[in-house]
Amino acid sequence: MRAWTIVLLLVSCSTQSEGVAPATAVPAPKEITWSNDPAIAKRVDELLAKMTLEEKLGQLNQYSAGHPTGPETGNKPIEDMIAAGQVGSILNLAGADKINRLQKIAVERSRLKIPLLFGLDVIHGYRTTFPIPLALAASWNPDLVQRTAEVAAAEAAAGGVRWTFSPMVDIANDARWGRIIEGSGEDPYLGSVMAKAYVVGYQGKRLGGPTSIAACAKHYVGYGAPEAGRDYNTTYIPERRLRAVYLPPFKAAVDAGVATLMSAFSALNDVPTSANPYTMNILKREWRFNGFVVSDWTSIGELIEHGIATDGAMAARKAMLAGVDMDMESSLYIRELPALIKAGQVPPGAIDDAVRRILRVKFALGLFERPYTDEKPPADAIDPASLDVAKQAALESFVLLKNTPAKDTPILPIGNAVRRIALIGPLADDADNMQGAWAGWGGQASAKDVTTLRVALEAYAKEHALEVVYERGTEITGGSAAGIAKAVAAAKTADLVLLAVGESGGDMTGEASSRTRLDLPGLQASLVSAIAAAGRPTALLVFSGRPLALTPYVDAFPAVVQAWHPGVQGGPALVAALTGAADFSGRLPVTMPRSVGQVPIYYNHLNTGRPAKTIDLSKPATGDAKYKSRYIDELNAPLYPFGYGLSYSQFTYSPVMPSASSLSAKALEQSGSGITVRATVKNVGTRKGVEVAQLYVRLRGTSVSLPVRELKGYQRLALEAGESRDVVFSIGKEQLAFWNIDLKYVVEPSAVSIWIAPDAQAGQPAELTVTP
Ligand code: BGC
Repeated sequence: MRAWTIVLLLVSCSTQSEGVAPATAVPAPKEITWSNDPAIAKRVDELLAKMTLEEKLGQLNQYSAGHPTGPETGNKPIEDMIAAGQVGSILNLAGADKINRLQKIAVERSRLKIPLLFGLDVIHGYRTTFPIPLALAASWNPDLVQRTAEVAAAEAAAGGVRWTFSPMVDIANDARWGRIIEGSGEDPYLGSVMAKAYVVGYQGKRLGGPTSIAACAKHYVGYGAPEAGRDYNTTYIPERRLRAVYLPPFKAAVDAGVATLMSAFSALNDVPTSANPYTMNILKREWRFNGFVVSDWTSIGELIEHGIATDGAMAARKAMLAGVDMDMESSLYIRELPALIKAGQVPPGAIDDAVRRILRVKFALGLFERPYTDEKPPADAIDPASLDVAKQAALESFVLLKNTPAKDTPILPIGNAVRRIALIGPLADDADNMQGAWAGWGGQASAKDVTTLRVALEAYAKEHALEVVYERGTEITGGSAAGIAKAVAAAKTADLVLLAVGESGGDMTGEASSRTRLDLPGLQASLVSAIAAAGRPTALLVFSGRPLALTPYVDAFPAVVQAWHPGVQGGPALVAALTGAADFSGRLPVTMPRSVGQVPIYYNHLNTGRPAKTIDLSKPATGDAKYKSRYIDELNAPLYPFGYGLSYSQFTYSPVMPSASSLSAKALEQSGSGITVRATVKNVGTRKGVEVAQLYVRLRGTSVSLPVRELKGYQRLALEAGESRDVVFSIGKEQLAFWNIDLKYVVEPSAVSIWIAPDAQAGQPAELTVTP
């Protein structure tokens, strides 16, 4: 129990199900949080009782700071709307002075003095830019991710922002989708771990704390599965899959106490999610979520384009009746709901419920007590402690994909024999593009705070009497081939080449940045071929917001690092890893395809009735080999699997040892506890390293087909050279239950394979029988 919670001991007489708990058991103490605090509920009710309909609808209305209001739009100027209680929240404003100015109008001029809630997309940092969320997920380190969210929350709160539209917890397995950068990848388990880390980081121990801000899990739900990877596109997700894959991270966020959710732009199974009663019911009735749902930007208005509304009134009615509480930017709630209520088409109770939810969050944030923010001038430099978190986050996000020996020694870490390094490529010294898609959204982050790889490497070289020659070679996109010859000349004189290529952070990744190609853009492929032809030992460093299809490039070089868009400390962190001052420990949170044609590709797929066990592309398949689920021109296997990543050490795994070879489904359903599985992981390398031991299961003989593997847990192990550690995982209801053919979450009799392995493709399973 956390110190800040009040504990209510509910001595209830309610009967427990037979055989589960003794009749005398005292139910667990109920934690009082912002969402069920009776004191807050009382204040909400008292305030609600005083509100006019216009004031209630004002609370449901959210505008961007730049929203056009004024007589020509049919609205009053924004200041007058706030004073009239017609606006409940503002987004896209940052800076205590600007925020205080509008807050003062709400608090001093509006009749009921209800403070505004200021929201912003603080996605991977506010002033201190951290690696993009997909990179943070590659750390597999929720404590670290939580720390980044804590720093972001403290900085944002100091700037007057009390609500972030983060975390994006959309599961995504299609690298064409630009917003894959904003989430934690393809896996519901890892996605849930990360969802919780962000929520706890942003919201702190107490939502009303001075460095806490409300989080917003988005985009509810299924937005990460757009057809053909095109942003905003339609999604079709059967309910079983929705519950198994797409809902769990949202549930984890709700369980962690997330204050708000955002409905998505997209239609799910033909019903746009910003007016989808089915998904809203899961959230509000099944999960008993007590916070509020904000629409995405004009997504209520877009119900007309979707075709489920013929006008704004119909759109407002459908969204409100479904359970979307706040209207971001459409103006439709404030404009259309009065007549709809009058006509009896929207019950006043629906409005009251939405207002209650919004006020609950405002009270919990302490906005009524502390509506204003101290107007301190922004610090000249980022706090060194925050820079340390940014450096550690970048370091743990890098994934070493390849490090094969060239003439016996792996080329990384950079060895003593290297005296001259050629640093080449358009991403080697590009401060802007180190920041990633959502950096600086509030105007607080700056490329000036970024230390690029070039700057960090030159500083290192100075201290270690190394020589660094730098050539940009070409641009990220466009540009000319003129610099390539100079880059090749530089490479030829060097003992080692570091080749920094990839995508731009701002316009090639993130929202509305879907791609049909997953290659290196512009003339970078020519640069890469030319450097490969130069024949010097080369490490390829890929800065991207998505897993690119790196096949040809990876084949050309002995060492490859996935560096993502690593944020302000990307350069120093990368130098630490490349020189061996630190190790690589990141693991892929997404499958890396060989070619765009394999996409969507993900490790937790079904087996099909015709799995292709081996594929030989060198000759046409005939007979049995042909009629398999496969391509004629590409392997099925990814370039690198989910969970994969190297370290400078090597690790071995013992066989997986279950504590029993069978267990009963009935007993599991009743007690939840099962068996344990154990494996010994040994660092057989020559230096300390971090290994991520991953627990996977596959269930067969079940009422529905289940994935070939599913991640059910993992442990990060820091092991000294030569050290062994036993890793032990529980196998109980949590690991074995699934949504069955009747859409019930149950354990069924089954044959279970269990892996403890370094990635989703490696290892040998132990077998377990689940009996009835
Ligand atoms: C995005 C959201 C974002 C919102 C507010 C939308 O376009 O889809 O993720 O939070 O804008 O900026």
